[in-house]
Amino acid sequence: MGVIRIIKATDREQLNSLLDKRNEDIDQLTARVAAIMAEVQQNGDAALCAFTRRFDGANLSTSQLKVSPAEIEQAYTMVDQEVLASLRLAKDRIEKYHQKQLSRSWFQPEEDGTILGQLILPLERVGIYVPGGTASYPSSVLMNAVPAKVAGVSQIVMVTPPGADGSINPYTLVAAAEAGVTEIYKVGGAQAVAALAYGTESIRRVDKITGPGNIFVTLAKRLVYGQVGIDMLAGPSEVLVVADSSANPVYAAADMLSQAEHDRLASAILLTHDTELATAVSQELARQLAELPRQEMAREALANHSAIVITGGLAESLALANEFAPEHLELLVEQPFDCLGQIKNAGAVFLGAHSPEPVGDYLAGPNHVLPTSGTARFYSPLNVDTFMKKSSVISFAKESLRRLGPDIVRLAEVEGLQAHANAVKVRLKEL
Ligand code: NAD
Repeated sequence: MGVIRIIKATDREQLNSLLDKRNEDIDQLTARVAAIMAEVQQNGDAALCAFTRRFDGANLSTSQLKVSPAEIEQAYTMVDQEVLASLRLAKDRIEKYHQKQLSRSWFQPEEDGTILGQLILPLERVGIYVPGGTASYPSSVLMNAVPAKVAGVSQIVMVTPPGADGSINPYTLVAAAEAGVTEIYKVGGAQAVAALAYGTESIRRVDKITGPGNIFVTLAKRLVYGQVGIDMLAGPSEVLVVADSSANPVYAAADMLSQAEHDRLASAILLTHDTELATAVSQELARQLAELPRQEMAREALANHSAIVITGGLAESLALANEFAPEHLELLVEQPFDCLGQIKNAGAVFLGAHSPEPVGDYLAGPNHVLPTSGTARFYSPLNVDTFMKKSSVISFAKESLRRLGPDIVRLAEVEGLQAHANAVKVRLKEL
């Protein structure tokens, strides 16, 4: 038995088990998360400090929840200068990519003087969640804060759980300062989401919460949706590699492991019609896995949520890829651009041998906060629009109302809304 199972695409039962694992029973956890959030709503900062002590082991007073300018200054003295340069490079590339997404308000005048349009405005105050439990993610700081900044958000509030010593990873702090985050709080999990949604004595509530996190964070976001906006509900990370015989098994295995090391629940799937490649990738996975520091996590992800699937040909691989709607889709095939037109559902598509998924995680430019668990069917990656909203603009000229008023009256009356009709009729009388 290898580190990953090899199954046939015709084995529907096995395939379905891969797809279904993404709908775990979450009722019990939801109740726990709701209790945490109710406590924050009732007791504010005191509850935040209590949960931070319990879950993160950090003993903070309420006045220590907010990161001070001195802590940021100190972080700059602690970081490696080469890493800082890489972070700045990543920030610049992410910024340039997201600037292309920026849409502007528009106004469309009609001949009689009527003007219709759309205001496109940044949100005023957003909260970004940056995970901090089992690893630190300065890259996630950039991926959330940079598009918010490009959108024109003036207050970017970051929350992230502190370490047991009460500090935040210096790279996370420096990334926040570089990206233009305006406030940082040392709090994580469901309690942080509650604070952002309801507000506490020290954290003013925000208009929208974005960013990935573990199951507690995700369930909390689901519970506050409606009171605040949220970006999406992110599940465990996934990569799906479509490969033909031109693919290098060393690359395919390395890319699958780059997801598997994220999380025990992460998923790495290879779809190929080449059985020799399938065997070679399986052997490579075993070889490379043995060298990874996070091999225990990756081994579990490969054993439980991953597979190599033998398909009947490239067309079947692509059709199955659409069914999975993966967060990350890699096309390790001879002519990747020929396949692109057949892709319907994917968070991000990586084409060819020189575009491994970590390129997108860090500095290619596109966002790494992507829809997971098949939600690429209807969600998009985090983007500048996530941080903007639209208002319709209507300025009707006298002539337009005279000409179109009778139609409005007819439509209002057929709906039985006489007051609506009257609002137009009283004006028509004078025109
Ligand atoms: P996290 O910050 O999401 O969660 C840590 C917090 O979880 C703790 O502060 C605590 O408040 C809460 N918590 C832990 N155990 C709890 C319990 N028993 N009851 C209630 N609350 C509890 O950090 P993490 O746990 O390391 O998870 C990070 C997640 O984010 C991973 O799944 C990772 O794959 C994902 N991630 C995704 C992306 C992306 O772009 N998609 C990027 C980075 C990380």
